Amino acid sequence: MAAKPERPRVLKSSRTLHLRYDIPISKIAKFWDELQRGRITTTKCTKCGNITFPPAADCSQCRSSEINWIPLSGEAVLEAVTRIDIRPASFAQEEPYLVAIGRLKEGVNTLARLVGVRLEDAKVGMNLVLRPTRTAGRAVWYEFAPATGFKENNSS
Ligand SMILES: [Zn+2]
Repeated sequence: MAAKPERPRVLKSSRTLHLRYDIPISKIAKFWDELQRGRITTTKCTKCGNITFPPAADCSQCRSSEINWIPLSGEAVLEAVTRIDIRPASFAQEEPYLVAIGRLKEGVNTLARLVGVRLEDAKVGMNLVLRPTRTAGRAVWYEFAPATGFKENNSS
């Protein structure tokens, strides 16, 4: 009579690993410097003309590392929007907020918070501006706002 095969031993251990990724951003440091000064810039590939936003040190189309810096117009059109009610831990202290995909005049879709409009008043196709801002933690960042409201604020 054959011996009953032994159950393979399963050894398990679990522990929390803390990973830290150091991502070199020196090639796009100019973006943050310009944003501090209130200007939104990005990268354009000198070989194929591909514009990326947020900026990237290497072209996502042809992988060239030869890039030029260009200013962005800040003009955009709303493509999609949603409200984030269940916030990630880092934003748990904030009120629910809107996140939008806007199509920049330069032909690039980008994701950013949308401020200055309620979800029910936001309409796909409405004109937006992409502008520098500061997070609650005072870090420089960028956001979308309705273009009409933005112009009204500047025209008085
Ligand atoms: Zn390219």
